Amino acid sequence: MTGPVVPFREIVLKVHSRCDLACDHCYIYEAPDQSWRTRPKAISDEAISWTARRLAEHAEKHVLPSVSVILHGGEPLLAGPARLRRVCEELTAALDGVAELDLRIHTNGLQLSPRYLDLFDEFNVRVGISLDGDKAANDRHRRFADGRTSHPLVLRAVELLQSERYRHLFLGLLCTIDVANDPVAVHDALIALDPPRIDYLLPHATWDAPPARPGGSPTEYAEWILKVFDRWEEQGRPVPVRLFESVLSTLNGGPSLTESLGLAPTDLVVVETDGTLEQVDSLKSAYDGAAATGFDVFRHSFDEVAAHPGVRVRQLGLAGVGPECQGCPVVRSCGGGLYTHRYRSANETAGRDAFDGPSVYCEDLEALVRGIETRTAARLVPATLTDPGELLAAEHELTRTLLARLHADLASTPTATASAPRCCRAWGSPRPTSGADTWARPGGCSRPLCRATRPPRPPR
Ligand code: SF4
Repeated sequence: MTGPVVPFREIVLKVHSRCDLACDHCYIYEAPDQSWRTRPKAISDEAISWTARRLAEHAEKHVLPSVSVILHGGEPLLAGPARLRRVCEELTAALDGVAELDLRIHTNGLQLSPRYLDLFDEFNVRVGISLDGDKAANDRHRRFADGRTSHPLVLRAVELLQSERYRHLFLGLLCTIDVANDPVAVHDALIALDPPRIDYLLPHATWDAPPARPGGSPTEYAEWILKVFDRWEEQGRPVPVRLFESVLSTLNGGPSLTESLGLAPTDLVVVETDGTLEQVDSLKSAYDGAAATGFDVFRHSFDEVAAHPGVRVRQLGLAGVGPECQGCPVVRSCGGGLYTHRYRSANETAGRDAFDGPSVYCEDLEALVRGIETRTAARLVPATLTDPGELLAAEHELTRTLLARLHADLASTPTATASAPRCCRAWGSPRPTSGADTWARPGGCSRPLCRATRPPRPPR
């Protein structure tokens, strides 16, 4: 595969590999890949240190303005406050002066307490909570191993995040769709919790293990999601919903805002509790070993993983999707859906790549994009986003990345010194006053220009 390696900007760091719930739709414990059984429960000190070191060297090499680290599991809070503190301290120290660090945690919320939230406040770790809707919807899958409901405990966690002291840490709610649930009841229950954002996620499925369609319709998921869309519209779009914002953005020629739709290149890598480096987690739904790369943080750089064929194929945009998708009229919004959902083992016997086909949700995705397009076609472009800041931030980030790449290119050319001031001016950054030699160092300009490409630290 040709073209430059796309650096990773999002690291999913598995800090604990077990969970205190037994959700029957879990893509880790209920998936064909059972590698979690052989992994250490909690991430080791050594794996934390090497991850921080690899990430810092990757960010430095690619002049990344910022990187996101998502603390994940299993259930990440089971790692305990001391281990999570160590993770935050090591990452913060390693990235200091190199790139902005955006720390997040995705949790079921059961263990969330002021003790954790004070720690997250200290390191500005923002918290996303998994909740599938109202009690009936959440109880359908998100239960303890003995069948007890988790709903009241999740609500207690959300209540803590809604308090004035911790509200700034509330990232949003993640809801896995089940078409057996009432879409309006689910959406209204989530909206009632006043989250800063809602993510609706399609349940992981492949052509080998297709999604449930209790009503028998080939577009059952699109119909469900469009009912939520209509409700969201009726309510005046009270909070950003990533799925809708992404489709609206791409329909207007903008970027995709989620990995599960659109043609944006993947820039995500997973670090498991034993330090092994894997591709996106959802691939565990495809087959045993689907996410493996053979690399680990102790012996390999992130660049080596970024050059892995399984990663590269998800960075090729339109060229990376199969012929059916390439000829599809909604491909710019859909992008073939989530890579994992394209898996079809029979493709291999037909001489094709197992992921070289449309999504198992193909009809849903086309109906969803067309449904949103039809509903919003009459409106003017500037009115389409509830959260224009989201699109603005994406465009801002793209500009920073392009400037960072420009900087890297300039640094490797003989004209580096002469070009650097113009690069800084383009960003609106004043010329550094630390001396003329700041831009005259071998290899081009250094710290001041790199800093010019970084976003300001978000307010605590
Ligand atoms: S709607 Fe179907 S064919 Fe079109 S891009 Fe999406 S998955 Fe591919």
